[in-house]
Amino acid sequence: MHSFQYRNRSLHCEQVDLAALAEEHGSPLYVYSANTIRDHYRRLATALAPLDHHIAYAVKANSNLAVLQLLATEGADFDIVSGGELFRVLKAGGSPSGCTFAGVGKTRAEIEYAMSMGIYCFNVESEAELRFINQVAGEAGIIAPVAVRVNPNVDAKTHKYISTGKSDNKFGVDFERIPDLYARAAKELTNVELRGLQMHIGSQLTTVQPFIEAVQKVAPLAAQLKAEHGIQFLSVGGGIGIVYHDSLASGDGDWWDNQAGEETALTIESYAAAIIPVLQPLGLKILFEPGRMIVGNAGVLLSRVLYKKHGSAKTFTIVDAGMNDLIRPALYQGHHDIVPITEPDGQNETIDVVGPICESSDFFAQDRELPKLEEGDLIALLSAGAYGFTMASNYNSRPLPAEVLVDGANATLVRRRQSFDDLIAGESVAGAHAENTD
Ligand SMILES: *Cc1c(COP(=O)(O)O)cnc(C)c1O
Repeated sequence: MHSFQYRNRSLHCEQVDLAALAEEHGSPLYVYSANTIRDHYRRLATALAPLDHHIAYAVKANSNLAVLQLLATEGADFDIVSGGELFRVLKAGGSPSGCTFAGVGKTRAEIEYAMSMGIYCFNVESEAELRFINQVAGEAGIIAPVAVRVNPNVDAKTHKYISTGKSDNKFGVDFERIPDLYARAAKELTNVELRGLQMHIGSQLTTVQPFIEAVQKVAPLAAQLKAEHGIQFLSVGGGIGIVYHDSLASGDGDWWDNQAGEETALTIESYAAAIIPVLQPLGLKILFEPGRMIVGNAGVLLSRVLYKKHGSAKTFTIVDAGMNDLIRPALYQGHHDIVPITEPDGQNETIDVVGPICESSDFFAQDRELPKLEEGDLIALLSAGAYGFTMASNYNSRPLPAEVLVDGANATLVRRRQSFDDLIAGESVAGAHAENTD
């Protein structure tokens, strides 16, 4: 589903004019389409219907309360990676009994919090963590449900910073060690219940092949653990990639119908068709942990052109959004299409689009041919709904941007822009009382 389109030469999200939103709420501004999020969730649920499955949305992709609440209403469960994310899910009305807790470095406080809330499962990433959870559960007098994350050692063929399923990544436990680890845990660790097996090989996968390779490798292991230890579920993680190039090209089509250059869309349907035959015979509950696929193309970051700067080698277009607002290009060479909010008339120029931050990596496009932009023009950085706001920071003491959720003709401010006072909340100078001085 495609919810960002030009109408009357002005870019809209669903029925709402983005220029009007930028006027009202300022820039930079994140805008999300509720109906795109619903559509992606429902398409995945429909494609996976032949399996006894649960969709645990990966909260770290976009953790705004309104987005979480929308997905909870759709029936989603949640994959969390911190105590803070669990707190958000509960505030948004999500059920703790649908939460799986991933991550290599869970602290005692986080483990105790998640245990007290009664989450569905801890997805454990090392033997040391498994022993620690057993200990904490013992102290609390409870049995903690756990699944170990298996590292299947397959190449996800994605950027190295978002590849997680190879032996040299920090994630999970080596495939070969899993049966022995479960056997010893069953014997020695009396305060954990071996409830499942988990894997996640990486993010932004654009072909189905690594998924097939991984599930074919892990399915027999899951069957073995079911027979030996009665595990109930296999989680196959997230990682379905989205199209970042030319995602606006076919106005009424799906974004995954657009194919540009090397980038091919991995469709929900082709993904499901490839893995269902391998997973169905297991007779296990299958968990999915999609993040980017649900929200990535459901969001844009609006920004305004501040200055044009003509250097001897390049033309820079300086905008009011920076790498602190959207770090994907700086962090892992992520691409975002850039379009003017007012439909362009065909005049192009080759420019760098850069932010105001004092870092050379603070750019959104380099030597890119774009419609001619003037000072004061509004642009949209497309496909910014995942790993956008959640990775934003206050670097350079810039207040975090506002977020708006559009649903049909309605636009709701779901996070206000930070103020300067927000920037220093909680800080105090040496020798002063920590209390508020205003
Ligand atoms: C980040 C993450 C996901 C979601 O990945 P996407 O590429 O956004 O789908 C799922 N599971 C785990 C364990 C993760 O760390």
